[in-house]
Formats: sequence, structure tokens, C-alpha cells
Amino acid sequence: MPSAPELLSSVFGFDAFRPGQEEIVNAVIAGRNTLAIMPTGGGKSLCYQLPALVREGVTVVISPLIALMRDQVRGLREAGVAAGALTSGNTEEETDAVFRALDAGELKLLYMAPERLASGGTLTLLRRIGVGLIAVDEAHCVSQWGHDFRPDYLEIGKLRHALNVPLAAFTATADAETRAEIVTRLFDGQPPETFLHGFDRPNIHLAFAAKTSPRNQILSFAAARKGQSGIVYCGTRAKTETLSRALAEAGHSACHYHGGMEAEARRHVEGRFQQEDGLIVVATVAFGMGVDKPDIRWVAHADLPKSIEAYYQEIGRAGRDGAPAETLTLFGADDIRLRRAQIDESLAPPERRMADHARLNALLGLAEALHCRRQSLLSYFGEEAEPCGNCDLCDSPPELFDGTEAVRKALSAILRTGEYFGTGHLIDILLGVETDKIRARGHDALPTFGVGLEFDKRQWQAVFRQMMGHDLVRPDPERHGALRMTEAARPILRGEDSITLRRDTLRAQASRPVARALVSEEDAPLLSALKAKRRAYAEAARVPAYVVFNDRTLIEMAEVKPRTLDEMARISGVGATKLERYGAGFLEVITGAVPAPEHPARRKLAGREGGALYDRLMAAQADLTRGETGIDKPLSCSASQLAKLAEMQPRDMGTLTRILGERRADRFGEAFLEVLAEG
Ligand code: ADP
Ligand code: ZN
Repeated sequence: MPSAPELLSSVFGFDAFRPGQEEIVNAVIAGRNTLAIMPTGGGKSLCYQLPALVREGVTVVISPLIALMRDQVRGLREAGVAAGALTSGNTEEETDAVFRALDAGELKLLYMAPERLASGGTLTLLRRIGVGLIAVDEAHCVSQWGHDFRPDYLEIGKLRHALNVPLAAFTATADAETRAEIVTRLFDGQPPETFLHGFDRPNIHLAFAAKTSPRNQILSFAAARKGQSGIVYCGTRAKTETLSRALAEAGHSACHYHGGMEAEARRHVEGRFQQEDGLIVVATVAFGMGVDKPDIRWVAHADLPKSIEAYYQEIGRAGRDGAPAETLTLFGADDIRLRRAQIDESLAPPERRMADHARLNALLGLAEALHCRRQSLLSYFGEEAEPCGNCDLCDSPPELFDGTEAVRKALSAILRTGEYFGTGHLIDILLGVETDKIRARGHDALPTFGVGLEFDKRQWQAVFRQMMGHDLVRPDPERHGALRMTEAARPILRGEDSITLRRDTLRAQASRPVARALVSEEDAPLLSALKAKRRAYAEAARVPAYVVFNDRTLIEMAEVKPRTLDEMARISGVGATKLERYGAGFLEVITGAVPAPEHPARRKLAGREGGALYDRLMAAQADLTRGETGIDKPLSCSASQLAKLAEMQPRDMGTLTRILGERRADRFGEAFLEVLAEG
């Protein structure tokens, strides 16, 4: 059996493990119970797919999402791995084929929907086929407290007992309660070997911007990324429709998605997104759970997400293939008011609402961060990090100023008007504007009236927004969103504490967010050509483009520009099966020529040591086709004989003769042994 690193490259086409994968793979291969917590896109699937190839018997994979299972099975088959799925989405023929393969002992991975576990026949089936390992994807679905709870997941613990095989559980949800519940329900409370892996997604560029004209901000962000697959998240259903229309009018391929649509229509959008290259989906958060597209190049939030966890999950859908991806999150005072109101108006118990406010605060803190965003984000998840160099604040650090005085003036305006007014009226007071409302209430007589002339209206709005962001003031839902001071503001009011604010958000936003190029300018045309080739293959095979090769692989091809199949085989993501299937086609795009046809026996050796050896044997043979003297009868070895030599590397004439026969050994033997001795 080839070793794990060998399979990693020969089957999956990757030349190195991602951080953490190797330890998990080794533990699973060794048959230990494992629980791996890895962020989305961290590469969990490989951690059971690879061991499944090494271990005896069938690996049963339990996963809650039919679409994802089907995708994975398709991907595995493309890589030459025998995999099948039993789900309610199967056609009868598909199911029959899976059973046949199981009975023939051919299947290595069997994907199964959790609903199947409850049926009596399943256990009999699994007993019969010889299961060697159970892998559980999205293991947090076993937790009753999470919103992804799947009652059928409770059957998994029983299944493990009945089959008495090791179990490997995977999830991206890290909180301690969920983890404990997984241990109880899947492992009978016996702690498995646990791997907790970093939450950083270094390839995702982070950026926030204050809302100035949201529609234009999103349109220009998308315009700079034309032709790339992206998601725009919106706070309301209506907005998904208007924004997607605006994007389509601007020449993008865009469609909308929300929970109010018919199931059929939603599935249609999901299917298109998965399949097409460069579609933009404008959606509410209903879009996501079933999305497993590794080459989403950007995610934009037209409205502020509801919490830091939601933010992390939503931006985390970008760049799962590890290639650069970008995000932009817009936020404004109205978003903050809306999110606060949603929490206050929810029917959740008070302590839950408090926790929700805290999670929103964490996100607002991130939005108003003064330094590296990734540091703030990771510190929320309990990780320390250096400034990342891949966020808007690292790109251009904001200008800061001491905002203590401004905040105290604003607080004073709030308190002197009895905490009964919203931002608009408060700013009028600070700027000394004599509106009817101000005269009617006598607010022009307040000592705070007209004390804020150092800023204009927009600048004051930014100060108020940052105050909300720092949770110094909160809109009171019982007073139509009038601002109330929080306890956190008291030390500043009393002059015991100071506060730093960002000046850059006071100025107009930098105009057009510039896209990062995936490759250098000179390689860009080649990348487009490779993508076109990929699309042709994908369409012919009716699979999503990334199933052929993911973006990262194409980027590497465009940069490295392999000239031969051997060089092609060294590109990350090009395994043996894909090399065989697509190698020549992509090579043709790169070299601009049809590569000389190679004998299949030689092609099999591409990228391996044997390939070069084969070529040298060929050369030695060419010198001797007509013998030492050049006048003998022409003679040559077959391609498969040469391939055999290159693979077995015999060192003595006896073995060599057995492979080539007397006549050929006579003519080429010595020269070949010399080549083989050089190795
Ligand atoms: P998740 O942890 O979210 O389930 P996946 O298993 O879907 O992540 O993997 C995300 C992406 O990372 C996939 O496109 C996969 O092909 C890629 N990937 C996984 N392992 C590696 C690796 N060792 N090297 C390069 N790419 C990898
Ligand atoms: Zn940073």
C-alpha cells in the first residue's frame, strides 16, 4: 500500500498537507477515535478520504447535505477513487450501481445520509459489506442546542457500537459546549484524540467600509472583479432582488436567492452557482449551508451581518481552494440600529439576548477596529496573531484621533435631552441648527447647542456610529430608537477614560476598491485560456469547473507553465488520473502546440522518477536500433517493455533478459544496464 504522502500526491494531486491534516490523517489511519475541529475550507474531507484508501474495508461517511455528498463522490471518482452514495436523491439505477459495487467489494467510500441510519436494513447492510471506519462530517449536528441539530445523528453512536469500528468526527464549530456534546453522543463520553485547528484563513482579504452609497459601493466592488464567482449578502429579501437586477444591468451574470423562494427555484440557483464560472448570487443568509463551491473568489456584505460568528462563517465561504479571495463588509448606523432592534424584539430569554448583544458588539468592534482586522477577529476566537498584511487596515492604516472630547459633547447632548432623541436631532443640536423641532422643545437654549462646529454633519454621523460600535450608546426600541447611554460610556463622560476614534471614516470613502490580481498581468491571458479549457471539459463532463481543476491549480499552471507531462504532474492538484484525463489538453493551451502523442505506458510514468529513466532508455535504444555497427536489422523494444524496465530497474542481465527476451537483451542489454546503473 502506498504511504499517505504518496497517495496525497498520486490520487489527490497535492504536494503537501495543509496545516494539521497530516496528524489527523495519521491518527485516523491508525484506527484511533478522533475529533477534528477545523475551520471551513481547512481541508477536512481529505482527512477521512485519504485514510479510507489506506484502511481495510469500506469507510462510511455520514454527512447531512445530499448536494455535498454527491459533489464529493463526483470529485473522488474524477480522482479515480471508487466511491458511492446512498441518499434520497439517488435514482434507482444509481442505488443499484452502489449495491453492485458494494457486493463486488469494490467500494472504498460509502456516503450515507443520516436518515438511513434509523432504518433496520442499514445495519445489516453495513455489517455485510465490512465497514472499517465511520467518518462523520458536520459532527456538530449531533448537538441539540445548535441550530443545525439533526435527530438522526443520535443514531451514529449506536452504529459505532454495533459495528465496533473507529469513528472520526469533523466539524468547524469549536465552542466547548458543542465539543462536549459530540464527545458524549458519538463517543460515549470517552474523549477521542482531539485536534483543534487554527481559525485563520490567511488567503481571505478582510475589509470593512462605512456605508455611503451601498448600491454603488457593491457595484464598483463587483465591477473590479468581473467574471469571478461571488456572493453578495443582503439584510432583506427585497434587496436581493433589486441589487441582483442592478448587477445584471451592469453586465454581470447575477441572480437572487432567499428563503421566500420556491424550493425548486432555490435549487436551480444553487445548481447554477455550483456549475457556472463567474456567477454572482445576491442572497440572504438562507444561502450558504448547501454551498460547497471551493472557488468563490469574493463575498460582499451589503448589510452588516448579525454577529461576529455569522460574519466569519459568511466570509469563510470564499476561497476554500486556498487561492486569494476578497471580502467587503458595509456597515452604517442604520445597520446597528436594525441589528439591535432584532435582538431586543426577539423572544429569546434575557441572558440569551445579552449574549447576542455581546456577539454583535464583537462584530462592531471589528468594523471599527483601529489596527489589523485579522488580529481582532482571531483574538475573538482566542488566537494570537501578528499583523496580517492582508486586510484593509494593514494595507492603509487609518488616521486616528483622540475622540474623547467629541464623545463627551455627544453624550452631553443625549443626557440633556433626556435620552429621548435619535442621531439626526442630536446632531442638529451639536451643530446649532434651528429647526422647528429644536425651537419647539427649547433645545436652542441648551448649553450643548452649537458646541460641535468642529465637525460637519457627516463627520458627526461617523462619531455617533463609532459610539454605537463601541457600545457607548444604544438605540432604545421602546423610544423609537432614541439613543441611550450605556454603562460603558460613564468613565468617558466623567473624564476617567479616553477614547481613540478613526478619522478615515470621517472622510469620503476611497473610491474604487481595487481587485487583487490572481496572477501577474503577463500571465493573465494564459489563466483565462486555461479557464476556458477547464470550462470546456467541465461542460462536456457535466461537472462543476472546479471538479476538473480548482483555481489554485490553474493559477500554478499559468505561473509555472509546464512544458511536458512530467512537469505538469508536479503541479499541485494534478493527480495521476487527472493527468491522464486532462494533462495533454491543458499542456496544449500552455505550449500552444499539440504535444507529441505519448505511448500510454510512458504517460503512466509522467511525473515520476521512472519517466526520466524511460526517456533515457529510449535515447539509448535509438543509438542502437541498427546495432553497434549501424548496419544490422532494425530492432526496438515495445513501450511497455521500456516502462517495465524503468519501473523495475533491474541491475543484472538475467532479469533484463527475462523482460526483453534474448534478441533484444543481446542488442540493448549492456547499454540499458549502464543507463539503469546511473539511476
Ligand atoms: P472543509 O474543511 O471545508 O470540508 P474541504 O475538505 O472541502 O474543506 O477542502 C477545501 C479545499 O481545499 C478543497 O478544494 C480541497 O481540494 C482543498 N485541499 C484540501 N487539502 C489540500 C491540500 N493538502 N493541499 C491543497 N489543497 C487542499
Ligand atoms: Zn491585517
